[in-house]
Amino acid sequence: MAHEQSNTILVVCPLGIEAKAARKALNDIRLHVQIRVVVSGPGVDAVKRAVCKHASNTLAVILFGVAGGLVELAELAPAISEVVASDGKRYNASSRGVTIAGVDAPILTPTAKAELHEQTGAMLVDTESHAFAAACEERGLRWRVIRGISDPFDQTLPEPVVGWIKPDGRTDAGRVLIDLVSKPGLIRAMIRLASQTSAGLRAARRRLIDTVQELTQSESPESETPELFCGEAVEGGVVIFGGTFDPPHVGHVRCAAAARDELETQHPGCGHLLLVFVPAARSPHKQSGPVASDADRVAMLELAIGDVPRAKVWDEELTRVQVDQPSYSADTIQRVRQIVGQKKVFLLIGSDQAVAFHRWRLYDKILENAELAVQLREPFDSSELFMSMMRELGVWSDHQLSMWENAIVKTPIVTAVATDIRTMLDQDDTKALGEIVDERVLGYIRDRGLYRSIC
Ligand code: ATP
Repeated sequence: MAHEQSNTILVVCPLGIEAKAARKALNDIRLHVQIRVVVSGPGVDAVKRAVCKHASNTLAVILFGVAGGLVELAELAPAISEVVASDGKRYNASSRGVTIAGVDAPILTPTAKAELHEQTGAMLVDTESHAFAAACEERGLRWRVIRGISDPFDQTLPEPVVGWIKPDGRTDAGRVLIDLVSKPGLIRAMIRLASQTSAGLRAARRRLIDTVQELTQSESPESETPELFCGEAVEGGVVIFGGTFDPPHVGHVRCAAAARDELETQHPGCGHLLLVFVPAARSPHKQSGPVASDADRVAMLELAIGDVPRAKVWDEELTRVQVDQPSYSADTIQRVRQIVGQKKVFLLIGSDQAVAFHRWRLYDKILENAELAVQLREPFDSSELFMSMMRELGVWSDHQLSMWENAIVKTPIVTAVATDIRTMLDQDDTKALGEIVDERVLGYIRDRGLYRSIC
């Protein structure tokens, strides 16, 4: 059997679905170390066994998965700095973050969650982290715990769920079926839990990438440490393009790609720019929606940008905010700035959005962290129309108006609007659709039956 090398990070996941999420996250990044993901099975003994069996001679060990929330939290997978066990013993992992309580049996009700928070000050709870931290400390291992919230503080976890996981970490489908047939009332709770689990795991994936990068920073040779963005090395900087992409259309993709190329031409000294599509959780600028799920919008975008070089989809906003909450560009751009350091950050927006930019939350913070780039679209599809509207608003100074004028990038004008596309999809207006929606995206929409009966 091959021995672990000292540049290996071990990721221990109590459940199979957690391991799947961890592997997906790690596939997306370029690493200077080896990563080994193992499924331990649930509970303290299983996790202790996994650490004992696999963790010797590793650079660090990470416990990864989902947890319960004990209080309302802004993030679904907050950084965890400390574990507190039932006997009050505390284990410190890092300097910044919240405390997680490790308990021997699941905490099911909001009352019990509130009590545990009261007693320990912990913000999250799981059934393994105390045993995991103790096992790592005994062996002198560097360790971290990463947990995404699957059942929030104000929700009851249905009791049968506890028996749905087999000792090997896989879901016991037979048992689930028996429970659902005998207690149909569980179905709703299960659907809700499944959707929260995927949201929790998406957030945990992002935290895993950050943690692995933090743990391996000292391992990367100096000459090979470009900032990584969605697993891509950032050369000159990034062009951030946000939207609901519900669904993505050629206006989004063609214009954004042309805008990025134009920005590269305008700034020849800075090198290639990575084009980053950022699907919004819920646009603060829209009354309702999105219609398609987060996962479907990400999948459609991935298909839509398939042929565009140096383009990525970044699910930061979807994983950062709680379900149904709006996501704000100011926070996203600040996070981009933290990742890329001094490199160029452009925020690309359509002219229809730019005329309302003065109403965006903390727009001055965006301007501190990014340069704006504007692509023209109806109804402001010429520089003159756009600039006369900006002047008419009366909110921008002369200096700022010239900034806006310089921000206009030359892109093709594409008449496509997602709202109209949703209506056309509902009415199956195939011919017109083929011209404005990528055929792979159309295929996906048809396969999944999206946007039916929405009007
Ligand atoms: P909806 O009709 O649902 O409001 P949309 O087509 O306007 O959707 P969004 O996802 O809201 O698309 O837009 C994301 C970004 O793309 C915005 O900055 C928007 O101005 C820009 N954009 C949308 N359509 C076009 C287009 N045809 N040409 C250029 N930019 C576009």
